[in-house]
Amino acid sequence: MEILGYPFMQRALIAALFTGLLAPAIGSYIVQRRLSLLGDGLGHVAIAGVGLALLTGQAPIPVAVVVCVAGSVLVEVLRQRGKATGDVGLAILFYGGLAAGVLMSAFAGGGTGALSQYLFGSLTAVTSGDLVVIGVLAVVVLVPTIGLAPQLFAVSADEDFARVLGLPVRVYNIVVVVLAAITVTLSMRTVGLLLVSALMVVPVAAAQNLVPGFYAALGTAMAIGVLVSVGGAAGSFYLDAAPGALIVVFAIGVFALSWPISTILARRRRIPVVITEPAEHPRIPTPHVLAGTHPHQHGDPDCDHPAVTHGDHLDYVHDGHRHAIHKDHYDEH
Ligand SMILES: [Zn+2]
Ligand SMILES: [Zn+2]
Ligand SMILES: [Zn+2]
Ligand SMILES: [Zn+2]
Repeated sequence: MEILGYPFMQRALIAALFTGLLAPAIGSYIVQRRLSLLGDGLGHVAIAGVGLALLTGQAPIPVAVVVCVAGSVLVEVLRQRGKATGDVGLAILFYGGLAAGVLMSAFAGGGTGALSQYLFGSLTAVTSGDLVVIGVLAVVVLVPTIGLAPQLFAVSADEDFARVLGLPVRVYNIVVVVLAAITVTLSMRTVGLLLVSALMVVPVAAAQNLVPGFYAALGTAMAIGVLVSVGGAAGSFYLDAAPGALIVVFAIGVFALSWPISTILARRRRIPVVITEPAEHPRIPTPHVLAGTHPHQHGDPDCDHPAVTHGDHLDYVHDGHRHAIHKDHYDEH
């Protein structure tokens, strides 16, 4: 463990730990909303922030956070405006951000070389000041990401249904993109702005293969995120490479392993038919049926009822109706 003897590596590994926790946590909502490439676009916007910081001689992370958060609100407003105009608007914003960042960094005299450490991460670039900013903002992101999980999940999984429930959908949507923007910016020292989106998406996809349910997948994705980003940062020290690439390769490796594992787990759970269905129809709560009226627990090895993915849980088709386990009874869905 000689690498722990270097102060710059201690800082890099702590930064990687925060990145690994944050990116898959907020990524879980982004994936749920089918906006997997949002993080990539926000990364491009943050590049403009880095360019601006280089040009004005400011610390890059705070400037990039402000620029990226402003960009993310604009992204969400464009998205809510509608698909046709929103799509082109997003493309212009993202590529404009990248171009502006490259130009400003050239004017600053650093050229693209100064920029590249923010694009793919850099082990030596994390200063003590950066670490304080990263730590504080990591807490600012993690508290609502975990604390508002039920609301953010409801809005991300099914906007229309969340509206029916009376949730302020627009506000929560903006909360998700702003948290994503902060996360993207904080990740620029470790995984880098061009690769951060992979760390937001790939651990989530792997976790969804491994465990059923949104919350279990959220926790698993965060564990995978920490593993691959700390592992990638440590590995890149020995390879003398930018950490971002190795972090993403590790994440994709875990994803690749999750396929055969998920097949084995599914066989063990003996779910005969899994019909994936978008969680679009609202759940109609009807009187609860006691689990005691069941001869068995659905999902047990002797259960041969078809399982249907329904939002964050599994429903079992039984005598022409569908229901899901809820505490000690079944809810009709
Ligand atoms: Zn059954
Ligand atoms: Zn039943
Ligand atoms: Zn119930
Ligand atoms: Zn259900």
